Amino acid sequence: MDPVSAPDRAVGAVPSAAGESAGVLTATGHPLQRAGAWAVAVMAGRSEPELVTAADLDGVVEAVVADAVAAAVAGKDAARYAWWKVLYALYPNSKVTHAKRPKDAAVLTAGMTELFVPDDAEGERWPCALCGAVASVVWAKSTLPMFDTNKALNTLPPGVSGWPVCRGCRVAMWALPYGAWVTAGSATVLSCVQRQAEREFAEHNVQRAKRMMHAGASGMAADASPELVVVRALRALGPGLAATTLWSFKNDNQEPWVRVTRTRRAVPVFLASVSGNAPLRRGWQLLAHHLKREDADGQVTAYGAAEAARLLFEAEDGRSRSLLRQVYELLWETERWTAEDRAALTRLAFVYEKEVHGVEPDLSKVATLIADWIEHGSSSPRGQLAEYRKAALNGYRLGELLLEASFRLKLDGRPVAIVPEEWRLVVQQRSRAWEQRVLLAAEVLRLLQDRGVEVGKQPDDPAERELTEQRVQQPILAPEDHDFHFGAA
Ligand SMILES: [Zn+2]
Repeated sequence: MDPVSAPDRAVGAVPSAAGESAGVLTATGHPLQRAGAWAVAVMAGRSEPELVTAADLDGVVEAVVADAVAAAVAGKDAARYAWWKVLYALYPNSKVTHAKRPKDAAVLTAGMTELFVPDDAEGERWPCALCGAVASVVWAKSTLPMFDTNKALNTLPPGVSGWPVCRGCRVAMWALPYGAWVTAGSATVLSCVQRQAEREFAEHNVQRAKRMMHAGASGMAADASPELVVVRALRALGPGLAATTLWSFKNDNQEPWVRVTRTRRAVPVFLASVSGNAPLRRGWQLLAHHLKREDADGQVTAYGAAEAARLLFEAEDGRSRSLLRQVYELLWETERWTAEDRAALTRLAFVYEKEVHGVEPDLSKVATLIADWIEHGSSSPRGQLAEYRKAALNGYRLGELLLEASFRLKLDGRPVAIVPEEWRLVVQQRSRAWEQRVLLAAEVLRLLQDRGVEVGKQPDDPAERELTEQRVQQPILAPEDHDFHFGAA
């Protein structure tokens, strides 16, 4: 992350300062500084980072230093040690995390407090690398996560031995672990055009940090994730447009990494639809229910709500599971679903494509052709279905199958209401054609089930049915246990 690419002082829309010394902090476009700035605002009880005063900064510094020092002197078995691991992951070479740090709290406190001294009114000063305000202090990698020293040789301001950072930004960069979703080795921060969502993410994480310091890593339950917290905040926004980006990073001495995932702008619209519509809620809950995973000892290894929320995020490198793909795979479990469940999952897939990707194909005719062919083809419906499944996502093979189906049905004297021109969009290799093929399969399976075509046994385990029914009646995105997971890196 290049610190100089991000200054964003365009804060004209921010409410005017509440006190004389407000304006000592700006939430910039740098995602780490921004998460820290929101944490400072939350910790200071201010609605916006720009309303934080110099006195507020003093209070936050006191808390940040006290927590860091308590963590630095804690034994490895103490609850507070979890916070030390968090700090170590972010600032591995700092005074409080160094392996040779003094175990004297007073010495550590003095050393830490020094980091946050006010900027000199006189003497040498530079524009802050993050926000552009006047800065008299120069920082480097040991206090600034993700700032690379080697790279800095080329990008540092001329004649300066590090990054000039103003007091507001220095405090923000150390309030970062309170505003980020932290694990023992990584941190995740949020950027969203809706400030309210950023604030909610920070509020949740400040609470989570307090809990972690109090209860330790082993006191954290495992049913939440940063994605789930973001998706809840997006749902709370209502049906507007708001893209989000989650930046996860590890500030390791050897191998630092950054991973970026995004939600599309219309995800809040989709969430509002799901919340307000019973069949869609059912579809969502079925999806979440079937994403839950347990290990051999019955310990939950993946929580449904968190897993479902993650499907709304797309990785920058393209290596993420999609909601559509997940629903597709579930729908092929033909022995699992009642007609109502199948209809709900199918509806969920169609509405997701319509609202998030703007894809709204009319597939009824082509789905009818395939369903007719499966029902009345030359071998058993099960055999025909297996053949369709092999071709379902491949444009070329699906094209061949459709031609064969059309020919076969006509030969048998059955009506065929569609010509090849009308299925061209589904079989071609263009973008979003794959999504259409997924939706088509969902629709074919739904039609077959509606017609009572025997393609699989219906679910007949009443206990399992009852459990599923209880789960799908819960409100969407509700916590299953509680929310403060301290996961692995
Ligand atoms: Zn600054």
